[in-house]
Amino acid sequence: MIRFEHVTKRYPDGTTAVDDLSFEVAEGELVTLVGPSGCGKTTTMMMVNRLIEPTSGRIRVGGEDIAGVDPVRLRRRIGYVIQQVGLFPHRTVLDNTASVPVLLGWKRAKARARAAELLDLVGLDPKTYGPRYPEQLSGGQRQRVGVARALAADPPVLLMDEPFGAVDPVVREQLQDEFLRMQAAVRKTVLLVTHDIEEAVRLGDRIAVYGQGRIEQFDTPGAVLGSP
Ligand code: ADP
Ligand code: ADP
Repeated sequence: MIRFEHVTKRYPDGTTAVDDLSFEVAEGELVTLVGPSGCGKTTTMMMVNRLIEPTSGRIRVGGEDIAGVDPVRLRRRIGYVIQQVGLFPHRTVLDNTASVPVLLGWKRAKARARAAELLDLVGLDPKTYGPRYPEQLSGGQRQRVGVARALAADPPVLLMDEPFGAVDPVVREQLQDEFLRMQAAVRKTVLLVTHDIEEAVRLGDRIAVYGQGRIEQFDTPGAVLGSP
């Protein structure tokens, strides 16, 4: 579903963030990208929705070379969740969740009905939380709204950059569990960036272990943990 072919990204200042990267993620697979800060994880992910353009190499999503796909059309197929969720402060939780489908041209009523389903799926009762504003939620709840919003338009691919990074360890574990349950139900193709090896092991079907600009190991959690 996602395929990198010899992808290199050099920033204008000369930094090589990603160096000749090739890997493949199967449909419905959840791959965690793990490694220390600055090793190229975020750059890798942001090239998938063309927020960053590679310097060389090719990236395919669903078989299609994304260099030829209009970025707006591409992003319709790709949900995106980041640590600072960036909810609209003056819109309710329901309208925040509905915002991506509305952007994509769905009728407002249909988008809202879909948003309510997704809030339910991420464990927020839409009747209780839908009418609230982001500032009335805890950090963990806001993070869930971010996930609901990213999934609302039902994209086949989901990109997540430290999605559970901003919450305390107990809430984090709870969110991870809920996310795993949800992923079992919806089976998206997911790239999830984390610097936390435990999180990578817990969530990943496979793990991409980064060194500087490269993937040093790409394997199942068992194999990664078992290696010297
Ligand atoms: P990670 O997500 O693993 O922390 P990044 O992909 O954010 O790593 O960054 C990889 C490397 O590219 C780092 O050395 C970082 O400083 C550099 N980098 C990231 N963004 C830019 C940019 N816009 N301009 C120059 N260098 C950048
Ligand atoms: P604004 O119009 O206020 O600048 P945007 O329309 O750029 O806001 O996006 C609002 C939020 O929705 C952003 O946080 C962005 O990450 C997210 N978003 C926008 N378009 C998409 C999309 N196609 N898929 C996933 N998330 C999106």
